[in-house]
This record gives sequence, C-alpha cells and structure tokens, in this order.
Amino acid sequence: MIASVFGGLRRRPLTALCVGLLTSVAAQAALAADCPGHPDAIGTSRTIVVDPGAHPIIGTMQYNKTLPLADREVVLTFDDGPLPKYSNQILDILAAHCAKATFFLVGRQANANPQGVRKVRDAGHTVATHSQNHPTGMDRLPLDRSRQEIEQGIASVTAALADGTAPAPFLRIPGLRVNNGIEEFAASRGLQLWSADFPADDWRNVSANRVYELAMQRLENKGKGILLLHDIQARTVAALPRILRELKARGYRIVHVVPATPDRPATPTEPQQWQLHPPSEVVATSRWPKVPKFASAGPAALPVPALSDLDWRTTDLGARTARRGRGVPLPAAMPWPRQTTLPPAGTLAALPVPAASLFKLPESARLTLLASPASRAATAQARSTEVSSAKLAGKSRRRGGAAAAQPPAAAGQAAQARQSVGGTTAKPAVEAKRNGRSVRVAGLKKR
Ligand SMILES: [Zn+2]
Repeated sequence: MIASVFGGLRRRPLTALCVGLLTSVAAQAALAADCPGHPDAIGTSRTIVVDPGAHPIIGTMQYNKTLPLADREVVLTFDDGPLPKYSNQILDILAAHCAKATFFLVGRQANANPQGVRKVRDAGHTVATHSQNHPTGMDRLPLDRSRQEIEQGIASVTAALADGTAPAPFLRIPGLRVNNGIEEFAASRGLQLWSADFPADDWRNVSANRVYELAMQRLENKGKGILLLHDIQARTVAALPRILRELKARGYRIVHVVPATPDRPATPTEPQQWQLHPPSEVVATSRWPKVPKFASAGPAALPVPALSDLDWRTTDLGARTARRGRGVPLPAAMPWPRQTTLPPAGTLAALPVPAASLFKLPESARLTLLASPASRAATAQARSTEVSSAKLAGKSRRRGGAAAAQPPAAAGQAAQARQSVGGTTAKPAVEAKRNGRSVRVAGLKKR
C-alpha cells in the first residue's frame, strides 16, 4: 500500500505528500498494533521489492548507488550467521520489535546449522548469501575460487532451506573485498551485490555501547541507509535492543527489502533515487559548461582569471579608448568566428565560465598568425577592430569617411584594397609592435 503511495508521489507531489505523511503516521500506529505485546516496537514501515538485474550493485561504502530509501529509513543487515548462540537471540530481539532484516548467511554455517537458516526464513526475514567459507581477502583469490565460493554458498543455503526455494539473489562479499571480476560475475548470475551504507564496527573488539554509538552516529550523518551488523557477536546482541529503541525514538523507520519475482514486481522507483548524490536544483555546479583548465571550479563563484589568460575581447575592454583614434586597416577575413557578450570591466568579480571552444583557434587562423609580421599585426589589428567596429564606423561616419561608413565586413575589404594600393603593409606592423600588440599575439600563438 505504501509503495502505491510512493508511486503517486511522483505524479501528484502535494496531494501525495499529505497522503504519504498521514499514511506514514497511520502505518506507525498500525505497526504498534501489529506487534502484539510490544507497544514500543519500531516495527517495519514498508517492504520494497528490488530487481537485482536493474540494480546490480548497491551500498555507498563502495559504490555511488544505494537502495532507494527515503529520509530516516533504515535497512538492517546481519552477516556471518547462522550461529545459534547469537543468531537466535538476534532473531528474538527483531521479533520483539516486529523488525524485518536481511541475513547474509555463510554456506559453511548453513551446513552446520540448517535449522538456523530456516528460522531466519520462517521469521519472515530475507535470506541472502555471503560465500561458502568466508575467505578473508577474497579480492586476492583467483576469480575461479571466488566464483566457487559464491556458488557453493548459494548451494549450501539452498540445501538448508530444504523447501525447493533458493535464497534471495542478494550477495555480500566477505569483508566487502570485491574486485571487478566478482562484480561482473555476480551481475552475470543475476545477483545483486550488496555493500552497505555504514557499519557499526561490531566485529572489532569494542564494547556494545560503542557499537550502539557508532550505529547511531553514522546513521545520523547519512540520514538513512543500510546498516551492517553481525549476528555472531555478543556485543551485537547486547547493542541491538538499544539501537532499535533509539531508532524509534529519533523517528527512523525500518524498511524490509525483498527481491522481485515474476509474481512480485519491483517497487516503482526513479533512477535518481538510487544515486548517492541525486542532481539537486540548488547546486549550480552541475549547470556550468565544461570548465577550461585555467579556472578552478567553485560551486558559487569562480576566481577571476588573470588578464593574460583572457582573450583579446577582455583585454581590449581597457585599451579601446586609446586605439579608437587610429586609422585601422581592416582585413576581409576575421579569424574569430564568434562574438561573445562579456560584462563591463567593473563587474568582473565573478565571471561565467567561458566555453572551452572559445579558446580554440581555427587552424587557418593559426597559419595566418605565423605567416609574417605584417599579417600577424594585421590580424591583431583585426581583432581589436572587430570588437569596436560599430563605434569605429560611427566615428568615421561623423568624419565623412566613405569606406568606414560601410558595414564592418565591407569596410574591411575596402581597407585591404587601400592597403595593397598604397603598399604600406609594414606600417601597421610597426604600430602594433609599438603598442605591444605583438607580445599578445605571440602569447596567443603559444596557446
Ligand atoms: Zn562477513
């Protein structure tokens, strides 16, 4: 039922949100009633059905994907059982809270305690696998051995279930020591590889209180996720009741995860619900175009590049007045194909990132630049002239100059014609050198 509410959430956000909140409150109340004799039970707020084929790897301890949980939702997982001495106590504690979990069972343990496997299943938890012998350093094993571990673990748990059913196609690798070969193999077998979102270090020699503290601290840091515990440790047995009570007190909800089957379709989800960092409307970074190498990208404002890093259009902003009065020859070919509007010089505190393509010099223009001092200077002049061509045209119109009154391109042709007739092509080069333009051109050439 709650799954259908979440389905509606995507279509009718406001209505469904209200309905969702009410349903969640109602679900909590119903859960307490559904856990007879345990009014303080946290219960299980919902069950999600997942398709391993669609989501072959989960758990942010290793991957950038995890279960599609809402805020304050927790999935409990227990590794390394069944070991009757502790596993049975864990099952009793979970039963007292009507909390459903996923158990990653070790094949060898299942062989030794098949009854323990069936207890997990009969209590309504998800039975999953965790290799046959729990080898340490499984990432260093030959891939054949790793495959064998995985296959045998599944076979042993299947045998222990003894009802013709198989465990859930959920696999956790011992010590989370996964290599690429294992990931590919698991995917090829239709297994979902489970990492976790946070552990509580209950396999280490720490106190039960420390296990509780770590579980709560790490959960608070993430706000939701898959908690990794072990049902073969006394400290876990000691810590679990307190963890469950505190989860309820802080408003967390337990979510049970089961695999999709032909009769049980996967819970509808959006792809971004599985992402560790779903795209956010408030993060501007994702909206920037590709950042050129000279700028270090910050989330809100970028550092202003040094003037020497900018192209002529920006450097020209300050120098335009000085060049306006010169008679500037205009060549026909403009090496820069695009015009860009830049903010005035005074507002350069935070610049938009220029597209990388702006800095690409067409091959033909590069050749022109290298060809001769005269054409190099002419090109430099052309660049300076292009940006101020409108103003130049206006000024020339005031002086009555016929050629300059034409549009920029035509003016350029006229100017070039004048240049060749007068034979004064060297003059702009000298002028350009005097004005320091040749230095900038050399800089451009190097880039
Ligand atoms: Zn383990």
